Amino acid sequence: MARTYDSNNIFARILRGEIPCKKVMETEHALAFHDINPQAPTHILVIPKGAYVDMDDFTARATEAEIAGLFRAVGEVARQAGAAEPGYRILSNCGPDANQEVPHLHIHVFAGRHLGRMLN
Ligand code: C5P
Repeated sequence: MARTYDSNNIFARILRGEIPCKKVMETEHALAFHDINPQAPTHILVIPKGAYVDMDDFTARATEAEIAGLFRAVGEVARQAGAAEPGYRILSNCGPDANQEVPHLHIHVFAGRHLGRMLN
């Protein structure tokens, strides 16, 4: 069953400007900022502006424009970071079994070193 969106989660508060972030990019549908606890030389989070708990919620309810807008932003962020070559990894934790900590959909973009086969 879909989880309920908590409008006081930390990324909702960042979107409302109540908490600062190190912004990388902002578009109509997405905000990208540096992860506060980077796991790679480049570690950026890309989030939709809409209120979506996780990838399950997003892919069920978001409009085509929101979905396209989020994934365009991910690609653009990676290119701007100079990561398209030699490469990068994207990851999105969905739900408790994936250890999702912040209940607002976010896509991690990791780059800047050889990333191995997986990041735990
Ligand atoms: O995928 P998951 O929910 O576990 O990841 C949450 C991410 O949000 C972590 O990488 C954490 O460092 C990051 N974070 C952040 N700024 C905050 C709170 C968490 O960048 N204020």
